[in-house]
Amino acid sequence: MFIDGQWLRCDKTFNVTNPATGELIDQVADGDASHATRAIEAAQSAFDSWSRTTAHQRSAILYRAWQLMLEQKEELAALMTCEQGKPLKAANNEVQYAADFLLWFAEEAKRTYGETIPSARSDQRFIVQHQAVGVVAAITPWNYPISMLTRKLAPALAAGCTVVLKPAEATPLCAIAVFKILQEAGLPKGVANLVTTSEPAPIGKVFCENPLVRKLTFTGSTAVGKMLSRDAAMQLKRVSMELGGHAPFIAFEDADPVHAAKGASLVKFLNTGQACICPNRIFVHKNILPVFLETLTARIEKMRVGNGATDGVAIGPLVDEAALQKVDKQVNDARDKGATVLCGGQRLVQGELDRGYFYAPTVLSNVDSSMLIYKQETFGPVAPVITFDDSDDIIAMANDTHYGLAAYVYTKDISRAFRAVEQLQFGIIGVNDINPTSAAAPFGGMKESGLGREGAREGLMEYMETKLAGFSV
Ligand code: ADP
Repeated sequence: MFIDGQWLRCDKTFNVTNPATGELIDQVADGDASHATRAIEAAQSAFDSWSRTTAHQRSAILYRAWQLMLEQKEELAALMTCEQGKPLKAANNEVQYAADFLLWFAEEAKRTYGETIPSARSDQRFIVQHQAVGVVAAITPWNYPISMLTRKLAPALAAGCTVVLKPAEATPLCAIAVFKILQEAGLPKGVANLVTTSEPAPIGKVFCENPLVRKLTFTGSTAVGKMLSRDAAMQLKRVSMELGGHAPFIAFEDADPVHAAKGASLVKFLNTGQACICPNRIFVHKNILPVFLETLTARIEKMRVGNGATDGVAIGPLVDEAALQKVDKQVNDARDKGATVLCGGQRLVQGELDRGYFYAPTVLSNVDSSMLIYKQETFGPVAPVITFDDSDDIIAMANDTHYGLAAYVYTKDISRAFRAVEQLQFGIIGVNDINPTSAAAPFGGMKESGLGREGAREGLMEYMETKLAGFSV
């Protein structure tokens, strides 16, 4: 753990294992509520001086952290593959994405402009300025174990906030690596603190109940996000929530079915399907279905599954046994209710694969609304294809979920694309595009997918208060 500028060990530790091999990688300090409290107190002590540094000073540290992260890109990617499982190439891409947030917010730190507002009174002047909210508590997930940290840390630090971060129990080593970079970049003591733990609930409770924490930022499941939001509401703490998704992917009859299927194969199997923006319901118009399915299945069958450290592997393991069971249950349920398994459909146990949590990349056709996979987030490598023939109904079907994070639309008709963007109740929409994410673009969900936005200009404002001063002159 890293508290008040010191690396701490503690007697109690927990194991970190490689999901591809089951091997022990390391043991990490198992923090408890008392560590969280100490870290919050350190962050509070550091807040006064950190929030009064100039934006240019904070920017310089973030800029240095960006340089260090890029210098260490290969080591960080190798660590991520070992701890989280994604193939090396994807891990490299993630480190780049993580570094992008450091650079973006190093730049944005200097642009937190206020404004003056004309008053109705001739003797009055209004000035609006933005100030750091205070101590921030952050909770991050395992699926993007470096970029989800910088997406919160960089804007919080740029704004002048101090932070206590609790990473996911599966990926504390990546978090430790990020904090070493911040330390090396010259961040003063107490400004960013790290509490690792195998038991998140007591730490979450301290984050919600300690009055020194003024903002809670969370990325993870909708269930946990709702619970934390409810608890944080008791002190009206500000919250940002990046929660689950159930993304629709719609290929209209005028779409290029080959292009759409390629897109679906890339975004559905991103991180072995373990991303909240992965499509979970792939709606394909019946006129283009044969070409779409043929292209999708051919691409999926070619994807090599294995240890992400091996050259040419495109699909790594799932994070744990529970994730594997969830995927298998959804596939079996769909099969029992009449879906066709075009490829995959089972756990992989040949050779060394039986040591990890591997599931064959799977394509299901004839999926319908009676199936679990139609309603539940999968978080695994399964592409469920639903055929439609009435394009007027499809937006309503896509919106028929309490999630609202990402959606994808494939069409060559610009009017249809515009209407879809306006009518889909999702925070992020890709039109003939599967990667509508960037440090420069606001990321976040509608409905039960979350509150607030990360990245972009909005991402910085999540960590700032708006203060109005009215002067009588
Ligand atoms: P997932 O199912 O994707 O692991 P979770 O919401 O369980 O999603 O985990 C996301 C993050 O939330 C992780 O850092 C995890 O440790 C943390 N977390 C899980 N349960 C709690 C809780 N009760 N209080 C605080 N944090 C929690």
